[in-house]
Amino acid sequence: MLPVELIRAKRDGHRLADADLRGFIAGVTDGSIPDYQVAAMLMAIFVRGLDDAELAAWADAMTHSGDVIDLRAIDRAKIDKHSTGGVGDKISLPLAPAVAACGVAVPMVSGRGLGHTGGTLDKLESIPGFRVELSTEELVAQVRDAGMAIVGAGADLVPADKRLYALRDVTATVDSLPLIASSIVSKKIAAGAEAIVFDVKVGEGAFMKTLDDARALAEMMRELAARFGRETACLLTDMDQPLGAAVGNALEIREAVATLRGEGPPDFTELVTTASTRLLTLSDLEVGEDEARARVSGVIADGSAARAYERWIEAQGGTPDDAALPRAPVFLDVEAPAAGYVTELHSMEIGRVALHLGAGRSTKEDPVDHAVGVICVRKRGDRVEQGEPLAQIHARTDQAARTAAEHVLEAYELADEPPADRPIILETLG
Ligand code: URA
Repeated sequence: MLPVELIRAKRDGHRLADADLRGFIAGVTDGSIPDYQVAAMLMAIFVRGLDDAELAAWADAMTHSGDVIDLRAIDRAKIDKHSTGGVGDKISLPLAPAVAACGVAVPMVSGRGLGHTGGTLDKLESIPGFRVELSTEELVAQVRDAGMAIVGAGADLVPADKRLYALRDVTATVDSLPLIASSIVSKKIAAGAEAIVFDVKVGEGAFMKTLDDARALAEMMRELAARFGRETACLLTDMDQPLGAAVGNALEIREAVATLRGEGPPDFTELVTTASTRLLTLSDLEVGEDEARARVSGVIADGSAARAYERWIEAQGGTPDDAALPRAPVFLDVEAPAAGYVTELHSMEIGRVALHLGAGRSTKEDPVDHAVGVICVRKRGDRVEQGEPLAQIHARTDQAARTAAEHVLEAYELADEPPADRPIILETLG
């Protein structure tokens, strides 16, 4: 069928045949279908959805639109974790070494940040010398020798997603469950993951604003991954407020290292421990939940997780010392205007402040300032007295710090009574 016929069929609510969906993705990949027809199809899918079989064919075609990394040379279970993106979301940084210290091989493929969300690769590039681009051979060798690697996806991994995502971004079709699920799952399968832990963020700083939407996405990703024969677990986690305290690249590396030493913020530590536990239960260690949790806590307590971090950073060319990380020249405390309890700490606002300080990028080409960001000293539920710091700004200039402080203040809501408890892990599936 011609692209226009496929678009019309989907627009009118008909199901598309496997071969037609694959043909369409082939045309997306080789550029033979023009942007306007791809965009029209995306909108038709956004409105009509894809049924299970359509979704599987679409995702499989995306997966094979480019290279599929062959990690068979690693004779262990290949486990990966994917987060749907948030503010202060740095879990891969302590999670991968903690899990590696428990004896699981972790070849992890990560992304960069865009907009108000940060990306693991940008954070890692705060570390002088760290190489995010490894060949597949280097990746395999490093996982064999150091137990883990975190790398960027090569240009040839799921090229169909690159084109589809760029068009979705400008045609209001990003927040479609089948388009998100196929985008994420195809990249994980192409990157060689055999089992996957999904961290689906829920809240104002996330794609999924409600628990119902997050649950629907989680279930769709789990079913799709199961069609590829992959085992998964899914955590639905709070993104109404930033995760942990640090938001900004080098600041987040420091917080990740502190967490590996058992000195991290409570919400972040809990999520890292739980996600690591799920990874261990999906690995070839054959451990149950309780044993897995005990092992994760054990490697943090006895220092082996911190040592695994150092081995990994050095293996990838970086300097693991704190002194090597960049520091911003200007610090400014944001003081509480009145005493009270923090009832809200809006993650979207904090993410935007970090972006404007230079910690993120608005377009893919923007440079990133690794030193700047925000430390949220107080989080939801914390008590603060008037004049005590709510947050600390790390900025390039006094002016940038003052502007950021005004916006950070707007991100905080204070009241006389503490808010109701909202756990970091809202639900677990699988
Ligand atoms: N992350 C992805 O990789 N793809 C999406 O569509 C949304 C979030």
